[in-house]
Amino acid sequence: STPVATFCAYTKAATSGLLIKGGDHLETLAKIKVMAFDKTGTITKGEFVVTHFQSLSDDIDFNTLAYWVSSIESKSSHPSAAAIVDYGRSLSVEPEPEKVTEFEIFPGEGICGKIEGRVIYIGNKRIAARAGFETVPILQGEVERGKTTGYIYLGAIPIGFFSLSDACRLRVQEAIGQLKSLGIKTAMLTGDNQSAAMQVQDELGHSLELVHAELLPEDKVKIISEFKKEGPTAMVGDGLNDAPALAAADIGISMGISGSALASETGNIILMSNDIMKIPEAIKLARKASRKVV
Ligand code: ADP
Ligand code: MG
Repeated sequence: STPVATFCAYTKAATSGLLIKGGDHLETLAKIKVMAFDKTGTITKGEFVVTHFQSLSDDIDFNTLAYWVSSIESKSSHPSAAAIVDYGRSLSVEPEPEKVTEFEIFPGEGICGKIEGRVIYIGNKRIAARAGFETVPILQGEVERGKTTGYIYLGAIPIGFFSLSDACRLRVQEAIGQLKSLGIKTAMLTGDNQSAAMQVQDELGHSLELVHAELLPEDKVKIISEFKKEGPTAMVGDGLNDAPALAAADIGISMGISGSALASETGNIILMSNDIMKIPEAIKLARKASRKVV
């Protein structure tokens, strides 16, 4: 497009809460055919609340379990971490991140750390393999449907689990509707479980065309590569686990306020306000600007 048209569009985008990192992103944005969204922290607020926390071991005091888990989680920036820390505090359990060693993050799976001489793994079903299980052990308790489930392993022993609930951001369904009316196919790609993914799809009135759950970061990349065969593809995400998919897409859009630093660095466009409605607005703007080509 003409420099003037492009400049005007950039300025408008910036004032409307989008930061476009130069280059030809505006032109690509005008041509987007597929838009994939991460779930946690992107479609949802990423403000989890613990709705259930259960110990599975008679030998471990409940508050001790909460202390271990909240201390290890307090070293993580994943949206589930803050919920666990808050939950601990509601039991008057103060996390002690400085007591945790060997802390490790497994993007799309969970975390691990050593506290009081014990190595503890916390995460989704996949974390069982990290803790050394060949198959995911069957729990004695019932996990809640539609929720994010966190499993806690001490070495080869499942010692507890918890459920987390999150809410969709405002006007996401409306944004998806607008994208659809702009001829854009929408999808959700999440590392969370199938049931939690379908809960969000229900809340959005089944407006997303595709939902893929239980994905690793590299699975998100593979799906983005498939989408790219259909046309220019954008990925919207916030997490460490989204960075490879943001990079693989024709355009990576990252959540500005709450997103991880890596996602912000990787994204071509930063959604400063976390307002998903800005995306269809930006596409309309980009299409207008590219029509001004001489
Ligand atoms: P999404 O793709 O929806 O943003 P993530 O890939 O960030 O989700 O996380 C996938 C799943 O991994 C989460 O739903 C959660 O079950 C688990 N997980 C990731 N990090 C943590 C953590 N710090 N504590 C507990 N569970 C975690
Ligand atoms: Mg996320």
